[in-house]
Amino acid sequence: MEKNEYLLEVKGLKKYFKVGKGTLKAVDDVSFYIRPGETLGVVGESGCGKTTCGRTVLGLYDRTDGEVLYRGKDVHKLKGEERKQFTKHAQIIFQDPYASLDPKMKVQDIIVEGIRAHGLAKSEKEIKERVNELLVTVGLDAQYGERYIHEFSGGQRQRIGIARALAVEPEFIVCDEPISALDVSIQAQIVNLLDKLQEEKGLTYMFIAHDLSMVKYISDRVMVMYLGKVVEITAADRLYEQPAHPYTQALLSAIPIPDPHVEAKKERIKMGGEIPSPVDPPKGCRFQNRCKYATERCREEEPALRLIGEDHYVACHLEDE
Ligand code: SF4
Repeated sequence: MEKNEYLLEVKGLKKYFKVGKGTLKAVDDVSFYIRPGETLGVVGESGCGKTTCGRTVLGLYDRTDGEVLYRGKDVHKLKGEERKQFTKHAQIIFQDPYASLDPKMKVQDIIVEGIRAHGLAKSEKEIKERVNELLVTVGLDAQYGERYIHEFSGGQRQRIGIARALAVEPEFIVCDEPISALDVSIQAQIVNLLDKLQEEKGLTYMFIAHDLSMVKYISDRVMVMYLGKVVEITAADRLYEQPAHPYTQALLSAIPIPDPHVEAKKERIKMGGEIPSPVDPPKGCRFQNRCKYATERCREEEPALRLIGEDHYVACHLEDE
């Protein structure tokens, strides 16, 4: 694939934070791409750097090093009108819709902000029509615009968060754990809504989640992160059928299977040990203290992310054997 076919290309991205006398390496030399119209699922336990990665991609955090190319231009070097255009094209949906939305604001006031900021409607009447249309698009009643955010359930608030992101007619959305705070039945509704909107509007998603269960249904490819690093990235089907990294295998084995007979027979891979601190990650492979296959080499040498099959990248020394 030609480079210009990527909507987003991230090269050697690092995002470090100063913590006391140490350095928290939240995102540590991460490279990936997202094609137009696809969904890249990004998965890993808390502290793996996935949210920091999403926010640095959007330029909400300055990068420490590396490049984030959006349509070939470095997001972190955009200025003036180009910067403004990027904030219109690239949006974010947050994890907890209640925390990210001011409970004392009316729904219409929340949705309208971006429309006004980017001059997307000419009159108050047009703005009102646009808000009503957006509410219907996300499966809510057009009359809800007059109500306050605290009157709504978690799932409804997430729909309002999606309407707010859609208001500026974006092409790329970082979905930052949009379903993690919701009940399982509501999670499926929100995933279905995002899927439908993607099809209708040709959206591209970076969909961040802490486990692999729901990600399967929305992702074209999945990237697994551990302690600031990408450990595996490949097509969703391939990842679920042939996971290559021991961490991906453990995450997959933790997904409950609805059939109790199958679930009872399933082998769950237990990860021993704790996640090391990203302030002082271990030398060698960062997963070594939890990996049953770890060898002396794993403690000495950091495994590079390398191609092991069609569009399938893994960072593990086992792949050399
Ligand atoms: Fe396990 Fe070694 Fe592979 Fe790391 S490099 S995942 S410790 S086998």
